[in-house]
Amino acid sequence: MKSYTKFHDLPLAEPIHRAIADAGYTLPTPIQSAAIPALLEGRDLLGCAQTGSGKTAAFALPILHRLSAAGRPAIKRAPQALVLAPTRELAAQIGQSFREYGRYLPIRSTVIFGGVGQYAQVQALNKGVHVLVATPGRLQDLMQQRHVRLDKLEIFVLDEADRMLDMGFLPDIRRIVAALPSRRQSLFFSATMPESIAGLADSLLTDPLRVAVTPVSSPVGRIDQRVLHVSQEGKRDLLQRLLEGDELHRVLVFTRTKRRAESVSRQLRADKVRADAIHSDKSQNARSQALHGFRTGRTRVLVATDIAARGLDVDDVSHVINYDLPHEPESYIHRIGRTARAGASGTAFSFCSPLERKMLRDIERLLGDAIPAERAGEISGTAPALSTKQAPRKPTAATPHKRRRRQRKQTV
Ligand code: AMP
Repeated sequence: MKSYTKFHDLPLAEPIHRAIADAGYTLPTPIQSAAIPALLEGRDLLGCAQTGSGKTAAFALPILHRLSAAGRPAIKRAPQALVLAPTRELAAQIGQSFREYGRYLPIRSTVIFGGVGQYAQVQALNKGVHVLVATPGRLQDLMQQRHVRLDKLEIFVLDEADRMLDMGFLPDIRRIVAALPSRRQSLFFSATMPESIAGLADSLLTDPLRVAVTPVSSPVGRIDQRVLHVSQEGKRDLLQRLLEGDELHRVLVFTRTKRRAESVSRQLRADKVRADAIHSDKSQNARSQALHGFRTGRTRVLVATDIAARGLDVDDVSHVINYDLPHEPESYIHRIGRTARAGASGTAFSFCSPLERKMLRDIERLLGDAIPAERAGEISGTAPALSTKQAPRKPTAATPHKRRRRQRKQTV
């Protein structure tokens, strides 16, 4: 098969290229290069890929292209493409991707999932949608109530099939598939491919293109992590000094509480840093504005709480700063995972006051490794890790790639 290296080589409609450019993507990921041409030709696909591989765009872009090229209007209650996802978070994220990539196209999509009232979802279906993203339980409910029918379906995507099976969705999937037209394009994604999954894939797909992308490295492995030991009162000053480095151009700062998020962002603005805060006390509108400012680069530093940052999808975050360490060690991994997205590298600094040492130990236990430490006193706006002007210093215990990075920074 021809191998593509640039988005412009992919025969996608111009409005889709424009949306990709808006998203800031320059090169397709391996699964996108392999899958998009085949999907545009109408082939079935069996993808062995995890979140982080860019699989959502790998299916969303060709679906948007095909539906817009067909030019059929949205039909009341009868979607033309269906994406099944195991959890509401994933469904919401996929829905967001369709909106983002389809922003310049007259293609309508909606997301339905359980745990919330169905009224708004039924209304959206009644208005007519091209693309329906759904969790299996709610989809079945609405099918039984005749709010959705699948007889006009042309493209079916089953995402994270292994998780679906783990969650006991197999009977639901079988019933949903039984309601699909037999003439359709089917896409099947799973992070793992044990026999039970391969069997299910076989029953759904016809002569599929098989694409397996091995994870490049776990995202956490690509992040340069440091702990900075500092007193509680010294954190403000330390943050200010770090921000003197130009490399810190899109910075996500995490605090433990909403009040602290507000006060840190206020202090930063007082110090002439373009900063904003995002937390659950802010209106949806204010949060969207804060996020938009951050995405577009108008805001350099976004200060967030864990809850507000959940599901926050911003690419190209250069640095994550844990102003406060989280109580839950898992939150640390979610936080730092906001940098080093889609194959890029990134840096995460964690401020650790004497009272937070236990949290640090819990995080390190979860990581199975110590995070290299630097004393805050050694850091100034010209420190080696933070800008390019510092005199060489003795490397701390660091992995070879970190050492190389430091050496490179010291020589420029
Ligand atoms: P996914 O594996 O679909 O969950 O995508 C993971 C992340 O990669 C998302 O934040 C996407 O916005 C981002 N992404 C997808 N494709 C690309 C690309 N070609 N270049 C840069 N980022 C991408």
